[in-house]
Amino acid sequence: MLRLAIQSKGRLSEQSLALLSESGIKVPDSKRTLISHASGLDLEVLYLRDDDIPQAVAMGVADIGIVGRNVIEEKQEKVSEVMHLGFGACRLSLAVPATSGYDGIRWLSGRKIATSYPVILDRWLKENNIDAGIHVIEGSVEISPALGIADAIFDIVSTGSTLTSNGLREVETVMASEAELVAYPELNEEKRKELEKIVFRFRSSLDSHGMKYVLMNIPQESLDEAIAILPGMRSPTILKLAQSGWYSIHSVVPENKLWESIERLKAIGAEGILVLALENIIK
Ligand code: ATP
Ligand code: ZN
Repeated sequence: MLRLAIQSKGRLSEQSLALLSESGIKVPDSKRTLISHASGLDLEVLYLRDDDIPQAVAMGVADIGIVGRNVIEEKQEKVSEVMHLGFGACRLSLAVPATSGYDGIRWLSGRKIATSYPVILDRWLKENNIDAGIHVIEGSVEISPALGIADAIFDIVSTGSTLTSNGLREVETVMASEAELVAYPELNEEKRKELEKIVFRFRSSLDSHGMKYVLMNIPQESLDEAIAILPGMRSPTILKLAQSGWYSIHSVVPENKLWESIERLKAIGAEGILVLALENIIK
């Protein structure tokens, strides 16, 4: 049995649970206790604050964990990175008051920067030979320039709207982050095998994101053209309809190409087009 640590409450919790669910792993969602036992796979789920996940995994209290790359880098715990999970995208950036006259990273010399990520910031400042003060704050870093606590901030940004509403301007992006699956570096053979199963399931669920299953009827004379428009995974599936001269064609299409493909297929006589959601792609 593996024990997986996920964030108990916050921006990564819902998507962590959704990934489990798409992977056929059901977690009782009634009342989240500290630990709950999943069904569909022999797995225990441990709910923690995201900040505590790297240490829990480094110590083997949890065998695996789902946590942002930003937290992994900040905590400097020894964990193995297993896979990117494609959600929780954000970046760690430096921002200054919009009216500050910032003109490049030298502007930061001798200034005070507020952050909850002192380790990552300190490393970046050293790499860039900038001598600046770091002021560590846990919550609401973005208000510190207005309060006169700091000249600049170093914080998580996703859309940038929080910065704008606090009169700040993003000036340097230091690191990009997304949720990662991490593991205790010394998992035994048996646990390694269980981890492989989970990775396989996660991958097939992530691969299906942004993909749709489409099926439609096509007249015989347009079949070759339709096959060229719908490449599918290997090639599309073609089934003969009971009515002669007509075929049903099935394929998997990336969402960003969906409408363009459908318009071209309609133009060559496709009828009865169905677009279905995909849950998993097993490669
Ligand atoms: P906890 O109570 O677990 O310590 P938290 O307040 O530290 O929670 P959240 O705000 O829930 O953390 O964010 C969790 C993670 O979500 C971040 O560490 C980051 O990896 C990711 N994330 C993605 N977008 C954002 C965003 N706009 N703001 C903050 N975090 C984001
Ligand atoms: Zn946190």
